[in-house]
Amino acid sequence: MKIGFIGLGNMGGPMAANLARAGHQVTGFDLTAPCPEGVVKAASAAEAATGAEVVLTMLPNGAILRAVADEVIPAMAAGAVLCDCSTVDVDSARAVADQAQAAGQQALDAPVSGGVGGATGGTLTFMVGGSDAAFAIVRPLFELMGQKAVHCGAAGAGQAAKICNNMILGATMAVTCEAFALADKLGLDRQKMFDVVSTSSGYSWSMNAYCPAPGIGPQSPADNDYKPGFAAELMLKDLRLSQQAAEAVDADTPIGARATALYADFVEREDGKGRDFSALLPRLSGRGRS
Ligand code: NAD
Repeated sequence: MKIGFIGLGNMGGPMAANLARAGHQVTGFDLTAPCPEGVVKAASAAEAATGAEVVLTMLPNGAILRAVADEVIPAMAAGAVLCDCSTVDVDSARAVADQAQAAGQQALDAPVSGGVGGATGGTLTFMVGGSDAAFAIVRPLFELMGQKAVHCGAAGAGQAAKICNNMILGATMAVTCEAFALADKLGLDRQKMFDVVSTSSGYSWSMNAYCPAPGIGPQSPADNDYKPGFAAELMLKDLRLSQQAAEAVDADTPIGARATALYADFVEREDGKGRDFSALLPRLSGRGRS
């Protein structure tokens, strides 16, 4: 397949490399990041999109996605699919889908979970919004870049699934860290706490698969001095998107709002930037209630 790939950063670079390695003809563009091996470098986003059957984007946010869409949609062939894999606000995903449709093209929002390890190993999970026809065209590419693609519904449904998932993740990690800090002060051994909770009704991915306490449970960023992993500032970005969406549709999300405020303090007023999002544990265990 002839593919344009725009945004070759930490995630986009290895995703594009996996497509090229599988024999697809990939033309890439990024403002700063280098082209990975096997990907032909274009001089602009429009050039990367010209003649492509599928144009993939992996960009920092919705404003940049909208700007790139303005540039690439006029260059894309009729019927081609614009598939955005970035995590962006639901409104931007829907606006870009409308714009593509008005120009005679198709669009998907297909954010991912799995991080840089998943992008490199081709084991991402894609959450996809858009038409059945567009999903069918891009599905073989999702299978190369990931292990699972769930078609969640119409335009915006992929982003909706992503921010709901990550709102649960942020809140669950925060309360798991709180519980360890409380257990410490109650004199409960961390390993015993893990042994009980990981097999009881408090279990979660945060506890069982990504335990925030060093030396407990499977290997996680806690065992590597909280180097990300999933950086706290990316968690904050996703939590903010959840609150933006909740405001737009008047949904009451009190725990999501509290988790957002907590990560905002950690990242913007304390030392959380550049640390894994599970580093809330040393932050919480080092303080009292006030
Ligand atoms: P990144 O900053 O490493 O990559 C983004 C790239 O986009 C950069 O290389 C940048 O130069 C490029 N870019 C910016 N504006 C551009 C433009 N106008 N034209 C062309 N290129 C442009 O970020 P990343 O970690 O690769 O994340 C990309 C997206 O994936 C984000 O939306 C992020 O939220 C999401 N995501 C990241 C992770 C992760 O663990 N890193 C996990 C899941 C989802």
